[in-house]
Amino acid sequence: MSFSLEVKGELSRLEELDTCCKKHELAGLLRAGLSVRTQLGNRRIFFVTENAPLSRHVFSRVKELYHNIPEVMMLKTHRFRTHTIYRLEFTPLLSGENSELLKKTGIIVSAEGDKLDYEPLAIRSRCCKRAYLRGGFLATGSISDPDRSYHLEISLPTKLLADEYIRYLRDFGLEPRYILRKGHYLVYLKEGQEIVDFLNVIGAHNALMQLENIRIVKDMRNQVNRIVNCETANLEKTINASYRQVENIRYIKEHMGLESLPKGLYEIARLRLENPDVSLLELGKMLSPPLSKSGVNHRLRKIDKIAEDTMKDVTHEESQH
Ligand SMILES: [Zn+2]
Repeated sequence: MSFSLEVKGELSRLEELDTCCKKHELAGLLRAGLSVRTQLGNRRIFFVTENAPLSRHVFSRVKELYHNIPEVMMLKTHRFRTHTIYRLEFTPLLSGENSELLKKTGIIVSAEGDKLDYEPLAIRSRCCKRAYLRGGFLATGSISDPDRSYHLEISLPTKLLADEYIRYLRDFGLEPRYILRKGHYLVYLKEGQEIVDFLNVIGAHNALMQLENIRIVKDMRNQVNRIVNCETANLEKTINASYRQVENIRYIKEHMGLESLPKGLYEIARLRLENPDVSLLELGKMLSPPLSKSGVNHRLRKIDKIAEDTMKDVTHEESQH
C-alpha cells in the first residue's frame, strides 16, 4: 500500500468530536474534490476517489450532517493496472431545495461550463482550520513514499482555493509553495520537517511517527556513509602515497642498492618495502627508537627525492648516447 493511502486511511478513521470540525472537514473535502461534468446535456456533480475508506467516509459525513444521500458507483478501470474508482454522485444537490450542502460549503455551480466557483470561507477556530486542511488533503492530496523522497502536495482547482489553503497552512507556521500545472494549483511542501508538521496539524499521528522513524534511520545512514566515504578517501591517499614510495624504493634498490642510502633512510626504506599497506604512524612505531608520523614523512620524501634525481640522471645519460 502506498504511503498516501496509508495516511488517508488513518485520517478517514479519525474520530472527530465537534460538529463544527466535521462540517469544515467536509467543506475541505468537497471544495477540493467535487467536479462538475455535462453528460448528454445533463450536468452532474461527482466526488471521485480510488480510496474505498475515503468514499465511505465522505458518504457517511454527508448523510450525517446534511441528510443528503449521494449515489455511489463503483467503476473498474484498466488503465495501467486494474483498479477500482469510487464515484459519489451529488447531482440532486443542483435542484434548489437540496442545495444547502453546496451553500454551506461555499460552492457555486456556475451557470455555464463544467466549472465550479467558490466563495471565500472564513474559518476562525484552529480546530476547524485543521479539519479543513485535512479535508483538502484527503480529497486531492498525495504524499511520496518517505523511503524515497519528501514531497507532499494538494491539488486545488482555483487560485482562490489555493490562496486560502496556503493561508491556513501559514497559520500553523508552515511555508508552502504552489505551482500551476494543467489548470490546477498544486500547493506543496518539500522539507521532511514541514511534512511532519503538516501531518501533525491534520492529525495523522501514526503516519507522523512512521515518517519520523524513517527520517532517523535515513539520517543515521547518511552519517555512516559520510564517515565511510571520509575513511575511504584517507585510505586511498595512504595507498597512493605508499605505492609511489614503494616504486621509488625499488628503483633505488635496483639502480644503487639500498645500502647506498644513509642509515636513517635505509631503515625506513626497508620497512616500507616489507609493509606497503601500513600508515606512516605505524611505520614510525616500527623503528627503534620510534619516529613521529611527520618524521617518517620527512624521511620518505627524501627517499622520493633521491629516486627522482637518479631517474633524471639516468634519462639524461641515456639521451646522450
Ligand atoms: Zn472545530
